[in-house]
Amino acid sequence: MHAVLAAARRGAEPQAPTAGDRGRRAGTGVAARRRDGGPARSAGISDELIVRALLGALASGTVAGAGRRAGSLSESGLWAAFAMGTVVIACGWVWGAVLVAYFVASSLVTRLGAVRKAARTESVLPDSSGRSARQVAANGGVYASLLVLSALTGDPRLPVAALGAIAAAAADTWATEIGTLWGGTPRMILTGRVMAPGSSGGVTLVGTAASVGAAALIAVGAIWVVPSAAAHAGAAVAVFVGGIGGSIADSVLGATLQSKRWCEQCRTWTERRVHTCQYRTQHASGLRWMNNDMVNLLATVIGAALAFAMVADALPR
Ligand SMILES: [Zn+2]
Repeated sequence: MHAVLAAARRGAEPQAPTAGDRGRRAGTGVAARRRDGGPARSAGISDELIVRALLGALASGTVAGAGRRAGSLSESGLWAAFAMGTVVIACGWVWGAVLVAYFVASSLVTRLGAVRKAARTESVLPDSSGRSARQVAANGGVYASLLVLSALTGDPRLPVAALGAIAAAAADTWATEIGTLWGGTPRMILTGRVMAPGSSGGVTLVGTAASVGAAALIAVGAIWVVPSAAAHAGAAVAVFVGGIGGSIADSVLGATLQSKRWCEQCRTWTERRVHTCQYRTQHASGLRWMNNDMVNLLATVIGAALAFAMVADALPR
């Protein structure tokens, strides 16, 4: 496979199109456009970058504003999403499109049956009306950071790693939201023990299927954003594995290191500091500082690392 991908990179150079290889010709076009932007970018801050950042601020402000009005973002989440969207679009419109697709899909699955889900998980999970800046950073921070690093270094592996991170975030969100709604009783990923709905480290069959679907969607997206056509398959597989691996890591970290609290009044596990019964809960297991946002952040780091490792030899600098 590596030889094929290496050939694909050479294939990005101008050459006579191979008969019947439509995919590669399409890829050459993208790569050629990218190369045109290359010299200007390496010369410093180009006009193109400034225009894209300004239009990006406008676009991400519009999307984040709509998300705020729809209740998908809190006030702090609105500003975080605006800043992240602007930076990501400055790196390229296509990266902004992936981020918007992720944001819209995640918001929709979160809103799906929201009242029923809240009723199922209220004993375990704190109230969350709209994603906060911390949650936005935990899910999209690794994606945005790797894209900036990619723009600065030109390393072709970093965009694939970035997609691995956002695939992990998408897979985890879909698994949680769809699994909580339709998945029935979750079981702990390591022991199979039955858990309360909403418990970190709990998995359901429906949720797992949803995570596979989300990772596959982002992986298909990789076909549009990775310049070399013949490298598409390898990149898509890497992004898919990153998404699934990151989502599994999220559940394992949730089951092991994530901070869990105990309500002595109800004799039940919870993530709430003050339980629904108004009793103050106690830290009882896991690392005190390892909250759900930290677990999500680590899961996207693992998703990125897996995707990066899978294309490390195939897409050398
Ligand atoms: Zn209680």
